Amino acid sequence: MPLSIFDLYKVGIGPSSSHTVGPVVAGNRFLDELRERAVLDRVASVHVGLFGSLAMTGKGHATDVAVMIGLMGEKPDLVDPDKVPLYIEEIKSSGQLNLAGERKISFDPEKDLPFNFGESLPKHPNGMHFKAYDDAGIILHDNIFYSVGGGFVLSDAEAGQGKAIKSDHVLPYHFNNGVELLEICEAQGKTIAQIVLENELTWTDQETLENRLWNIWQVMDNCIKRGCHEVGELPGGLNVKRRANELFEELKNSPEAALKDQLTVMDWVNLFAIAVNEENAAGGRVVTAPTNGAAGVIPAVLAYYDRFVHGSNRQGIYDFLATSAAIGMLYKKNASISAAEVGCQGEIGVACSMAAGALCAVMGGTNQQIENAAEIGMEHNLGLTCDPIGGLVQVPCIERNTMGAVKAINAARLALRGDGQHHVSLDSVIETMRQTGVDMQDKYKETSQGGLAVNVVAC
Ligand code: SF4
Repeated sequence: MPLSIFDLYKVGIGPSSSHTVGPVVAGNRFLDELRERAVLDRVASVHVGLFGSLAMTGKGHATDVAVMIGLMGEKPDLVDPDKVPLYIEEIKSSGQLNLAGERKISFDPEKDLPFNFGESLPKHPNGMHFKAYDDAGIILHDNIFYSVGGGFVLSDAEAGQGKAIKSDHVLPYHFNNGVELLEICEAQGKTIAQIVLENELTWTDQETLENRLWNIWQVMDNCIKRGCHEVGELPGGLNVKRRANELFEELKNSPEAALKDQLTVMDWVNLFAIAVNEENAAGGRVVTAPTNGAAGVIPAVLAYYDRFVHGSNRQGIYDFLATSAAIGMLYKKNASISAAEVGCQGEIGVACSMAAGALCAVMGGTNQQIENAAEIGMEHNLGLTCDPIGGLVQVPCIERNTMGAVKAINAARLALRGDGQHHVSLDSVIETMRQTGVDMQDKYKETSQGGLAVNVVAC
């Protein structure tokens, strides 16, 4: 199936792409299926079972909330994050859910939206089973959906096709791996960004494409700005205090500090990442990049390019997003961007790799140097586990984004100082990441059953 830049970059809401955005999409798709079967107006009740990682960490990731707003017909990119708590309060107090925004059905989250702890569905760790009944209790339609990372959702039938889902859409430049991508670039005499942007023009025209890319950057940048001004504690009960505002005030009010400490720029990069991930943890508007848990890495590195790299410009922002998306596509095709499948390698690791290659590109790197930067970005995240305390995307997630961003900048610089020749190819590191993920015990894959999640008391 051909992938678009906008499959990797989706405007959504926090705190999780697989556990929040995906379940909203699954709810929307179930509504579409009810409409296609012309049974929507006969639905009297809906039951949605959550399985695997969605059950284990779904509470902290607001999966139940996501399913409910998905069934209401709200879209991840359009729903007002401030209204979500009001919708949920209304459902709980009235015992009714406004199905598809059209008609009220009875709905009790405790009974109709169970977290099936310790149970999994066969095709992916993030499973949801949707069932709709009429007023006699007869089942009208049911389907299983899997949230496979980054907001991507597969139905039971699609999941059965693995990664071989067919599409009639033909791209001028089709690539399955890093070697093929570099060969196309070489044969065409083009950059990775040019190849991906030309592919994109099979879906849309130049002006719309540029507007959509600019919008992605604007949502990221607004998220940074909002995060810099919010104060207080993050929701969920861990009592994690927001840090971005204090850091922002300190950096803004003492510009002379940068004269004494040249690494002050790293404080800014840390700030950008923290601001985004605090917004994500609070359920705010973020860009899935390529996931929500890792949503701060790419905006932080892109903001670094925008604010600190001499000569940065609008075309550079398009190229950054296109190059990073090309790298993300390689992970999506050949490994995974789902922490429930491969641990945090698939989130922070992939985001770091994407950002490293993209920064290298907009700082003048060759295609070989870009591939090298992306490889370095993942090589030093191999084995990274997913162990969020209390099932919340807060600790270690927020700081981990700062590490991913700083590491990406260093990877880009390392690659730019080389000639593009290196021992480990990007394809090799992607395959290594996949194998490491397969070997990783489930307790380190977004279940909050191991690592920091069990060694630090959530209070
Ligand atoms: S530990 Fe990493 S993969 Fe797991 S929720 Fe946090 S950011 Fe996502």
